[in-house]
Amino acid sequence: MHNSKTKEITDDEITENIKARIQDTDIDFEENDEEKLKLNTVRKTLYKLYSAKLAQFRRVRDKNTGWFIYYWWHDFEKLNEILLEKEQQIIGKLRDRLKFELNNYFFICEKCRRPDTRFKFDEAVDLNFKCPNCEGILVADENKDIIDFLKEKIVLLQDKINHF
Ligand SMILES: [Zn+2]
Repeated sequence: MHNSKTKEITDDEITENIKARIQDTDIDFEENDEEKLKLNTVRKTLYKLYSAKLAQFRRVRDKNTGWFIYYWWHDFEKLNEILLEKEQQIIGKLRDRLKFELNNYFFICEKCRRPDTRFKFDEAVDLNFKCPNCEGILVADENKDIIDFLKEKIVLLQDKINHF
């Protein structure tokens, strides 16, 4: 792959390019809008890519108009690295959740059985083992399925990361 900097393009050019490509197709990016695609949408998307470290830009002031022109190029070489980082964040969250499930006893409303009527032991004590939603009784919630599910997910993800 050669230097991606040679493939610089301005946001105006990207917009024009997309507009040309979608002409005579049924694609409509901005519903209820006269314009098929706004320059703003392109800019917003570019900044998203930039904050995800997948695009870079350099800014040049136009000598005639005094306006800034942004030249963009993509930086997809970092994509794998960024994906790996995200996977590691997810696995960290799953491990935290697993720890939380392993270290606590849970109680859930017999009738509602909803996630928002599930409480840790001390919370259930404070509630007098009564559901705040329907006044039903809070009963012990077996969380073996959740624990198994989390363990399984962690193993799968870890395996994926190891083979990255
Ligand atoms: Zn309830």
